[in-house]
Amino acid sequence: RAKADGRGTARFFEPQMDKWLRERRELQRDLQAAISQQQLSIVYQPQANIGGDVTGFEALLRWNHPTRGNIPPTVFIPIAEESSLMIEIGEWVLREACREAASWPRKLSVAVNLSPVQFKHGDLAGLVKSALIETGLEPERLELEITEGVLIDDLERAISTLSQLKALGLRIAMDDFGTGYSSLSYLQSFAFDKIKIDQSFVRNIGLSQSSAIIRAVIGLGRGLNLPIIAEGVESTDQLAFLTRESCDQVQGYLVGRPRPISDYAKYLGHANDVEQLARVRPAISA
Ligand code: C2E
Ligand code: MG
Ligand code: MG
Ligand code: MG
Repeated sequence: RAKADGRGTARFFEPQMDKWLRERRELQRDLQAAISQQQLSIVYQPQANIGGDVTGFEALLRWNHPTRGNIPPTVFIPIAEESSLMIEIGEWVLREACREAASWPRKLSVAVNLSPVQFKHGDLAGLVKSALIETGLEPERLELEITEGVLIDDLERAISTLSQLKALGLRIAMDDFGTGYSSLSYLQSFAFDKIKIDQSFVRNIGLSQSSAIIRAVIGLGRGLNLPIIAEGVESTDQLAFLTRESCDQVQGYLVGRPRPISDYAKYLGHANDVEQLARVRPAISA
């Protein structure tokens, strides 16, 4: 009977749509309180050179919702991006990560993800500059990760902001490389400092297409004099392949999961035993 009036399908999905929209609205509302109520935190995932030495950490946002528990960034970031919340959250992550890294005895780098929304509002370079000054973090220790989404809408404006950022002395990494529509042309329009091969390629190492693509991206990096880091490295087989292909750096569960920074104290040089520090290497050094 529902089908007969031609709107049956729509009607069938309505309750689910409703539920989904309601949940989104609720999350958006809850997210507003998340910063002030200290429900947001940052976990840190190590990045290592192919020989196994940790060179820095990527800051990844976490939201511990009071009733729903952990909500992944892939869910709440898009919601934050629909309002000015992403500006506020992005600013918080940036300051917090800079402050954290500035406290490390070893001068390791910290990578912070930027949302396209942060490029469209306000003075991003001014914000980053003040975060560096206030926290005392050396600019060359900060790496900003952007995805193609930053470049899609207004390429000229994005490039001008990226140039201002680079002029501060920090590095810009192209995240999730290879998953967008025209990553190659973006490499032509801005002098990135690093390419992050997306984990979808790494996951499929062993399939000839993925291996060929990774090989090509590493070759591209060599040609452009750009370091390449592979994301999502989970197995020693994947690491062996990346080592054979002379990939520069790796990040993934094999090196270390995203964790509270206190779990990584030994890499940071907080352990006052320097000799021990020299031996600190992730599981991959073999
Ligand atoms: P991303 O920047 O590409 O971060 C890498 C994601 O891969 C992280 O997911 C990380 O936990 C996950 N990952 C790392 N190693 C492995 C591995 O070996 N295997 C697998 N299966 N996954 C691995 P996460 O933390 O859920 O973050 C997802 C995305 O959310 C990030 O992708 C980034 O786009 C966004 N994001 C996270 N934090 C922030 C932030 O502070 N600001 C912005 N704008 N975006 C953020
Ligand atoms: Mg990233
Ligand atoms: Mg990525
Ligand atoms: Mg991603």
